[in-house]
Amino acid sequence: MEDLLSYTKLNRKRINRICREVNDLENKYSSFSDKELSSMTDEFRLSLRNGKTIEDILPDALAVCREAIKRRLGIRPFDTQIIAAAAMSDNIIAEMKTGEGKTLVQILSSYLYALEATKDIDKSKWGSVHILTANEYLAQRDKEQNEKVFSLLKLSCDYVEDKVNSNRKDYRSKKVKAYNSDIVYGTAKTVAFDYLDDNQVKDASSRFINRKMYHAIIDEADDILLDQANRPLVLSGPMPGLDITINDKEIKWACNFVHGIKGYRSKKANVAVIDRYSQFRLDLLYGGELLYDALIFKDNGRVILSNEFQDEIYKGQKSNSLESQEEYFAKDIAVSNALLAEYYYKRDKDYVLVEVGTAKDKDGTIKKVYEVALISQATGRILHKTKYRNGIQQAIETKEELLSGGKYLIKKSTDYIIRSTITYPSFVGLYETGISGMTGTSDVEEFNEIYGLQTYVVPTRKPSIRKDEETEIYATKRYKYRAIVKDIKKHHRRQQPILVGTTCVKESNELCKYLDVNGIKYQRLDAVNDKDEAYKIAQAGRKGMITIATNMAGRGTDIKLEEGVASLGGLYVIGTSKNSSSRIDRQLMGRCARQGLPGKTKYYQSLEDDLVILRYGKYKLSAMKKYYSTDDGLVTSSKVKKIVDKCQKIEEGISKQNRKTSKEVELKIFDLQRNKLFEQRNKLLNASQKEVLNIIIKMIGDYTNTMFENNELFKVKHLIDLDKCYDEDESKYKDNVYKSLLMSFKKSRGNYNVSEYIEYLRGRTLDIVDSYWISHLMNLEEMRKSILGIANFGLSDIDTFERMASRLFQNMNESIQNEVITYSIMPNLKFGSYVISNSDDEEEVKKHESNH
Ligand code: ADP
Ligand code: MG
Repeated sequence: MEDLLSYTKLNRKRINRICREVNDLENKYSSFSDKELSSMTDEFRLSLRNGKTIEDILPDALAVCREAIKRRLGIRPFDTQIIAAAAMSDNIIAEMKTGEGKTLVQILSSYLYALEATKDIDKSKWGSVHILTANEYLAQRDKEQNEKVFSLLKLSCDYVEDKVNSNRKDYRSKKVKAYNSDIVYGTAKTVAFDYLDDNQVKDASSRFINRKMYHAIIDEADDILLDQANRPLVLSGPMPGLDITINDKEIKWACNFVHGIKGYRSKKANVAVIDRYSQFRLDLLYGGELLYDALIFKDNGRVILSNEFQDEIYKGQKSNSLESQEEYFAKDIAVSNALLAEYYYKRDKDYVLVEVGTAKDKDGTIKKVYEVALISQATGRILHKTKYRNGIQQAIETKEELLSGGKYLIKKSTDYIIRSTITYPSFVGLYETGISGMTGTSDVEEFNEIYGLQTYVVPTRKPSIRKDEETEIYATKRYKYRAIVKDIKKHHRRQQPILVGTTCVKESNELCKYLDVNGIKYQRLDAVNDKDEAYKIAQAGRKGMITIATNMAGRGTDIKLEEGVASLGGLYVIGTSKNSSSRIDRQLMGRCARQGLPGKTKYYQSLEDDLVILRYGKYKLSAMKKYYSTDDGLVTSSKVKKIVDKCQKIEEGISKQNRKTSKEVELKIFDLQRNKLFEQRNKLLNASQKEVLNIIIKMIGDYTNTMFENNELFKVKHLIDLDKCYDEDESKYKDNVYKSLLMSFKKSRGNYNVSEYIEYLRGRTLDIVDSYWISHLMNLEEMRKSILGIANFGLSDIDTFERMASRLFQNMNESIQNEVITYSIMPNLKFGSYVISNSDDEEEVKKHESNH
């Protein structure tokens, strides 16, 4: 059984043989000049072009790379590192304990993949190898350290930054350049977000990643592939096509404008609220112009502004530059939101004002502060932490503040919209030759089940002499912290360095309080920046140092022992409570006793810790407390110990199941739909002008068919005269409708400069696609929550979800088609249309700055 999941014995033999060959070649390549060594890269590419496989050149390529490392870094890769790299050319996960030297394995392995990725004579066909690190600091560190080696091997190497620098233009080009390298360092998060961004651009030239994503090597693979597997990455930011978020000033202006407040507009906006988009009747129009300032459709939340009204909105706008175009759009949205806040959302029906405290107003008076809290239409209860998206929440808040007439204040929210989402399992599936990875602690079974990856447990160079003491269980947190403090004091007295790992910041806080009371000095790290973390973690091996860190802090940074520390017993690692996964416990334990050095670990646990309480509840636990000694609260009963162990097992089982379901849902639904949509979008983006016309003509054909299938002809009655098309024979009727739509399309084209018209259509269509996709994603998320949110979901639930999601996708496509066709025929409508999205949102969303 084990051999199916892990790298087979046969392979291990083969790999060991390769390693011997690499050793035999060592003298040959060490006699090469730098120039001769450099030229080997092209040699290898040539061999690969001539039909040799990577397998054939493996010993030579690894020997050359080892030689390059020796020359540029001054260290000689160990056999274990050669073995791991050779194994990784088979797309596997190499498990290597902390400190065994995974950074060099990265170089060796990426060299092999890069040779394949860049073997083509035509450089435009070259792909990149991405090395995905656990944090940004490591990406930068590894790039800086290793680029000397890559440069000797004639490979370009760079790293992509996550942070938006102040100089945004420079930032863009730096990123584009980095992605054009043969070896690209970055965090998985950065690259995944850039990929999502690339699929929302309005023209192909603004993409970040312009080279094939050939292969990814994932460092600390358990983190990205397991721990973070089912948390979707949510790309949020301003509306697509819009480079600026709508600021407070604009919202305020828009609310005043819509209300017809003096100094803004002479009269209140004239608005028609219509139940359904399909009731968009010709009598709302006159000569292609709306008879109202604006229309609001209740069913899909679209807002349409008349030309005249738009002109008024834009009045006072000075230039016609690109920036002002964006400003137009922002104003457009601000006004649309203000209209929705005024005519669509109702206080005490859709939302209520809840008092949340007091604050000083600008004039210094103390006023009450209210929050706009949404009401669930299903239950009538307040939806906590839920906000309207896309600027609507802000518009409602501003409106309420205006209405208060200065009597009270409204708490303001910040806005984001979901532009796109992806999970890591889906993201890493995008690499042409898949992924391989390195990890200190793996879960052989899960890597195989979820990713189909085998794990190779690379033997440590020297046997580990780490001492793991038995976990101590205490009745309460208080007892536990006291015991930990006592333990710290005892070891600190002898100057032995101590690393205390906590499961979260809250736990760090609790522990630090106890340490402070006892006058114990320590350094603390959590959620600060990676660089500080790395620096502090590197200090953790000094005599007398006490470091309190959350589990993730400083991951990937080596803890070197100060002289003399080994004789004190090495680093002592304390875990304040067990994690929801034993793999993470092992990860923390692996921080000490690297490379055969001494070290010791011990875990603590209390019956009040989340892991136990979640499973057993306070009531049952108080019954268990009778098993502890009243002296120090230590629980010695083996029965209780078993229960505590079980808690972790159950938790692991649940997360495993969740990851499996999540992966399945992602694969069957999100991936499928995302790929379809991105494909269509890219087709339009890259299409020649003639092709754009064909795409729309085809759309008209498809849409006509759909309308007849669904009996929904009314959906185009604002575009053509249906009576004139009518025929008793349905196929003739259909043909007439199709021809009539085509005619109208052709006619409308005739009124414009064709090239400009097509570019307008392309841009509009992309906007429409993006805004529908955004609201579709929100609907999907809601559906995921309502169908799969309940703990024990089974396969049939996924099937239900799949069915409903595909129907939703179909509906979205039809709406997109309808709107694109409407625009194509009536481009002069200049719809300032805008989607409402009133989803309940409680998931964690990472704010991602727009890079464009
Ligand atoms: P890991 O990522 O597996 O935890 P690192 O790559 O950070 O380990 O390496 C740990 C330490 O061992 C680093 O200081 C590194 O320079 C050193 N090291 C790695 N490989 C070698 C080698 N072949 N010879 C000498 N030192 C090495
Ligand atoms: Mg490492």
